Amino acid sequence: MNSANRGGRGQGQGMGQGRGGGGRGRGGGPTAGGAGGTCRCPNCGHSQPHERGVPCTQVQCPKCKTAMVRE
Ligand SMILES: [Zn+2]
Repeated sequence: MNSANRGGRGQGQGMGQGRGGGGRGRGGGPTAGGAGGTCRCPNCGHSQPHERGVPCTQVQCPKCKTAMVRE
C-alpha cells in the first residue's frame, strides 16, 4: 500500500444536510410575566394575585381604591 491514497477527502461527509430550520419556533404571543404575579397597593400595602390580562395599574385596591402596582 502506498501512501498515495491520502488526501482523498471531500466525499462522503458533506455539510449536515437534512436538518433545516428548526428549533426557533416559539408560540408567539404576549406572554410577559404570565401567571404568578402579585399586585400590591402602594398606599396600604394590600396585595393580591395579579389577574391575568388586567394590568395591576388598572386594578383598584379593594380597601383604599388606590391603583395597584405590579410587584
Ligand atoms: Zn390599598
